[in-house]
Parts: sequence; C-alpha cells; structure tokens
Amino acid sequence: MFFEDVTGQEELKKQLTETARRGVVPHARLFCGADGNGGFQLAFAYARYLNCTGRGETDSCGKCPSCVKYNELAHPDLHFVFPIVSNKSTKKEVCDDYLPEWREFLKTQIAHRTYFNIDTWLSQMGAENKQAVIYAAESDRIIHKMNLRIYEADYRILFVWMPERMHIACANKLLKIIEEPPANTAILMITDSPDAVLGTIVSRSQLVQVRPVETDTLAKALTGIWNLSEEDAAYVAHLSGGNYFKATDLLTVENDNAYFLEQFKTVMRNGWTRNVAAMKSFSEEMASLGRERQKKFLAFCQRQIRENFVKCLNEPSLNCMNREEADFSRNFSPYVNERNVMDLMDELSLAERHIGQNVNSRMVFFDLSMRIIVLIKK
Ligand SMILES: [Zn+2]
Repeated sequence: MFFEDVTGQEELKKQLTETARRGVVPHARLFCGADGNGGFQLAFAYARYLNCTGRGETDSCGKCPSCVKYNELAHPDLHFVFPIVSNKSTKKEVCDDYLPEWREFLKTQIAHRTYFNIDTWLSQMGAENKQAVIYAAESDRIIHKMNLRIYEADYRILFVWMPERMHIACANKLLKIIEEPPANTAILMITDSPDAVLGTIVSRSQLVQVRPVETDTLAKALTGIWNLSEEDAAYVAHLSGGNYFKATDLLTVENDNAYFLEQFKTVMRNGWTRNVAAMKSFSEEMASLGRERQKKFLAFCQRQIRENFVKCLNEPSLNCMNREEADFSRNFSPYVNERNVMDLMDELSLAERHIGQNVNSRMVFFDLSMRIIVLIKK
C-alpha cells in the first residue's frame, strides 16, 4: 500500500508526508474513522513512507531495501497487532501465530485494491461468527518486541489494528509504552470506534480523523477500477456515503441487483394480489439462496421501501435509485406511505435478524409475505 493506492484523503496525505519529511513523528497516532474511509491504508502508507530511503514528495519509492521488505510485509522492524480468534488445538494464541494468514490476507487486499473490515479478516481466519480480540497474552509479545534493538529501520513501527478489542491488561501495557516510548518508535493505531479505546490511550495519542471520501473522488476511482459507467459509479458512491469498503460491497451485490429487484416486485405484488401459491413458491426460491444473499436481499428491500417513501415526499434530491428501480417506483411508490412505512421496515429488518439467527428461511419469507398482505393496503 502506497499513498497513491488510498482513494481521496488528499489533505491527510499531505499532512502526513510533510510532517514525516520535517522529521516530526509523534510516538503514537490514532487513525479514527469507518473502515471503508481508508484509515488502515493511510497508516500503512505512512509507515512505509517513514522508512523509505528513496521517498519523493508525495510517496515512497517502492524500490529501496525498506520498500522491498514492506512489499513482502516482512520488515524486521514492522510489528503487527490485530484481533485474532485463539485456537488451542492448533496452538494459535497470539498474533505472530497468524502472521502467514495475515500477510496473505493483506497482500490479496493490496493486489485487488480492496478495503476490508473485521468480517473480511474473520473469514480469512476461517472463524466467521466468532469474536476476534487481542488477548492479554499479546502484552508480553509487544513488550518483548519493543525491547529488541532496531535492526535497520529509521523508525520501528508498531501497527495496532482495532485497539478497542484489546484485553484491558494488554491495553494498559500499550499505554505504558506510549507514555515512555522507546526511541525511534512510531505506534500507529487504527480504529473505527475511538470511544471504545482506552481513554488514556486516546488522550496520549495524536488523532488523525479519517473522514468519508468525497463522493466525486470515490466515483472516479470506481469508474477506473471497476470499469463502471459514470452514472453507475456516481450512484454507488452516493449510496455508500463515501465509504470505499461499502461501495465495493455494494458492487459485489450489484450483480444481484436486477434479480433482487425482480424478487422485490414479486413479493410486493404477491401481497397486493393475496396470491398464496405464489407466496409459497417465492419462499421456496428465497430459501435456496443461502443466508448471506438472503440477508442482502432483505437489506435491498429495506432500501427500496425507504426510497419509495422518500419519493412520495417529492424530494428528488434525497432519492437515489437506478433507472430500473425508478421505473418500478413510478407506480409502486404511492403504496408506501406514513401509515405503513415503519411497519414495513420493521418486518423486513425482523426477517433479516431471523435469517441471521438461523431461523428456517422458508418460514421467514412466507411469514413476511403474509404480513405484507396487511401492510401494503394501509
Ligand atoms: Zn522506498
């Protein structure tokens, strides 16, 4: 990851590179912002830049010995701390035990120019639906690494992803290190929930607020990387609220968009016509999709309901639908109104929750269809 791989955030890039060139390097920086805003990517580009011996004004060289080791994520003075799921049977109990998976994970993300969040990492560890944390056992490792002499870098980097997931014993040790930092060490922490980080760590760190990417910039990046039309890119950038991760997630769903829209029309029409046989075959089709797609479909329906309700308010600036959605909406939107909008949203999000809790999906979708009969005529 280089600065040029980070979408937008030009002001922050400028600040980080300028201070680095002036030799102003705080002991601890806390990058705060949603995962998809690019805090992790910025922090990594910054770490690389601090140690690059051939750096230019705006980015690292990519060729010096330090950059080459950064490419492999295997610099002896670059240390990673990140949430893991401890596994006693495979003896994976601290971050170093997960280093091969972690490196492979980051390299794939970099190669595809994608952003990620904790769920992406959990699935790489093969630990979906588990709680990943930074265990107390990590403290000794961190202290040991901070006591090693620096091998070759100008700055030793301690990279801490999601410090809010640190066991309190570990967080207190990290605090001690921040209070009395070893020489030439930069501690870079990245969080999307600064409120959950130990308060004393926050107050002793220099905060870097990573805001959402401007939608124009994001749209432009999406056009280039995903080969989208300008119109589609603007639509996705707007929907994601300037969050690159959400945007790419939407794009993967986007392949499903046309299908989801057809199913949305079906479930609403079935409700209006009270066609129980059609409801049954709809539930069966939905049950065949797999839980992740079922959840995405229900999220899609909630967005459609919202958009159709907003359309009734005659506030076009608040609306965001693509052409096909807008076509359907012309006739459908009058059916979504202040009498049923909240109930429709509640039913859809309840169904989404039930799917998440592994309730029989055929029943969830059939139930939902039945409730729509009542709600759609309000
Ligand atoms: Zn370099």
